[in-house]
Amino acid sequence: MNQNALGLATVDGLWQQLKNAQLVCVPGIKCTHRTDGGASWWLIQAPGAENQYRIDDLTHAVLQRLNGRISLEKICLNEQLTVSEHELAEQFSRLIEIGIVRPVSNGIAAPEEPQPRPAKRSFNPTGFVFFTFNPDPLLRKLSPLCRLLFNPLFAVIWCVMIGLGVFLWLDHHTELSAYLTMRAADPLYIFWFWAVYPILKAVHEVAHGLAVWQGGGRVRKAGLMLLVFIPVPFVDASDSSHFSSKRQRMLVAAAGMMAEMLLAAVGLLVWCMSEQAILQEIGFIVAVTGSISTVLFNANPLLRFDGYYLFSDWIEVPNLASRAQLLLRYILFTRVFGLQVEKSIDYQPREMKWLLLYGPAALCYRLFIIMVIAALVSDYLLWLGVCIAVWALWVQLFKPLGCFAYDLWQTARHQRRVQRVVYAMLVAFMLVMGILFIPFQMTLIAKGVIVLPERSQLRSITEGTVTQLHVPSGRHINQGDLVLALRNPDLLAQRDKLRAELKIKENIRHSALLGEPQRAPLLLEQIASLQKELDHVNDKVAGLAIHASQSGVLVIDRWQDFEGRYVNKGELLGFVYQPGAFEVQVVVSVAQAERLKREGVTAQVRFASYPDHTITVKNIRAVPQAIHYLPDAVLGSAYGGDLLVDMTDDSKVKMIHPMIQFNLELPIDSADELLADDAFDNRVPAKTVLIKFNHSPHSFAGELVYRLREFLFEKML
Ligand SMILES: [Zn+2]
Repeated sequence: MNQNALGLATVDGLWQQLKNAQLVCVPGIKCTHRTDGGASWWLIQAPGAENQYRIDDLTHAVLQRLNGRISLEKICLNEQLTVSEHELAEQFSRLIEIGIVRPVSNGIAAPEEPQPRPAKRSFNPTGFVFFTFNPDPLLRKLSPLCRLLFNPLFAVIWCVMIGLGVFLWLDHHTELSAYLTMRAADPLYIFWFWAVYPILKAVHEVAHGLAVWQGGGRVRKAGLMLLVFIPVPFVDASDSSHFSSKRQRMLVAAAGMMAEMLLAAVGLLVWCMSEQAILQEIGFIVAVTGSISTVLFNANPLLRFDGYYLFSDWIEVPNLASRAQLLLRYILFTRVFGLQVEKSIDYQPREMKWLLLYGPAALCYRLFIIMVIAALVSDYLLWLGVCIAVWALWVQLFKPLGCFAYDLWQTARHQRRVQRVVYAMLVAFMLVMGILFIPFQMTLIAKGVIVLPERSQLRSITEGTVTQLHVPSGRHINQGDLVLALRNPDLLAQRDKLRAELKIKENIRHSALLGEPQRAPLLLEQIASLQKELDHVNDKVAGLAIHASQSGVLVIDRWQDFEGRYVNKGELLGFVYQPGAFEVQVVVSVAQAERLKREGVTAQVRFASYPDHTITVKNIRAVPQAIHYLPDAVLGSAYGGDLLVDMTDDSKVKMIHPMIQFNLELPIDSADELLADDAFDNRVPAKTVLIKFNHSPHSFAGELVYRLREFLFEKML
């Protein structure tokens, strides 16, 4: 049970003991009025204390009348304050606890109790404070800048610069990502990053400081902390929470990010314009860190950086994080475990949803970020990455859970409600186990293309006009059957002319053999050349009759309109189609491919043009090497596919990331089935198909263990 400073053990006895107490405020208290969401309240902070405390108007009114001679009860009576004694007693016992109010005995204020030293923060290997100093003199020197920076003109300049930055980014984003992949692994780049980052952050912090100054506040503490081995400066801008203007408070929170984004825009400009490698490098780092780190860390309200303060000021829910935690605890204790606990948090109904949502979301994001950091660190030092991961899980998840469970157990024992707690715990345990171990099926749906073998294609060898289609489309034909005939009078005329020329030359040669034998070799040469030309034309003439190169069903699109049509040389006229004798090619990401290869998957193919048919694939083969070019342009983003292709490349099949190709073989017997259904008789199925890969069922826990093992295995090699 909560034991407070006056040694009061129960909530009920609190008022009895406090009502006659003579209390006095400690000197130097900071008290600011605030209105959030229409509700009026006061922010109060003991001198030298880091934490702020919120009180309502009534408590504030009582607080102002404390003089060490008059009791709480008298104040309430004199001022005719209608107040819940119970709530007032609770508020004041807490004010005594945190050292804002002190009891007085015999008219003399009790000697100030030594403030309990703030609990030493547990050492955090990813970030600890290196040194601190008072930045006030520095900010005083810089304060003339305020007039320059915090005015409408500069706001316009800022907007224009950010707009320019966004434009440049959109314009160069493929080059930028290529540059990043090229540079990221270079130790020199890492050095530049290490050197530039603290400077960028220093500008960020100065911007905070100036914004506080502009609002009339003071910054008493600044310093340097080491965050994942990178020196990062910081300032304590908490004075801004006493600003009554919401706009001013939000400006302080946003100033750092705004400065960084401005620098990022300038950096991008330098990267684009500069010819010098070093300037380009620095510009690039400023651009990347100023934008990405700002978006991922600073602007994100789920981490307790600038975005958090900006967000909580914006939605007008102060102390979002700590109150979210308290509310969650309160609800779990009272609603879930049916225990009675003191309600140590007050909130308006409109704040409820934010408070309930914030805690879990922030925890998940924090764990995610730390795991990403751990994974990045383990690229360089595996053991350190693993240590960070284990430590993070302990500090962020298991230790708070353990403390909560212990607290819960103690309270339950005290209130003799152990049974209910045990039941609730069991249900929670079963739920967690269910989520972890119940297997579920996963499917992957991808678009693929049908690839028909070369010999099934019906192509023209010679250009000409179609005179006759000998077989209608949809009919079965044998290899070598005549399919259609072309007419090309020019070609025939050319052949006749060549024949005649050849004949004349032959005659000349014969007569020359007798009269001028020295001309014979030249004539022979001319004849050979003519003969060669004639052979070539003869081949083309033969090509006017087009034969099937394999047996199968003839499929010619719009064959009724074919007669009289002019076809070009090499044009694809149709197919002699053997269902089943084709391949389906599909391209998936490397990660998806890994998963497909590792598990015994089955796959089904569905034709876009015949949605009722699904064929189970007989054989799935992965192409051993990653591919950089799509097998067909229809799969790429240039032609409406899902896979990103490099739009600057003319082929429109060059992919941004390497991918893995799978070739799927359909069973031969499905051919009969499809033909029997009359589905493929007259048409080649549309080029694209949908493929559904079914993974074998697995549980969340299994997946997690697998991923972890893969990860460690990969890093250890
Ligand atoms: Zn900041």
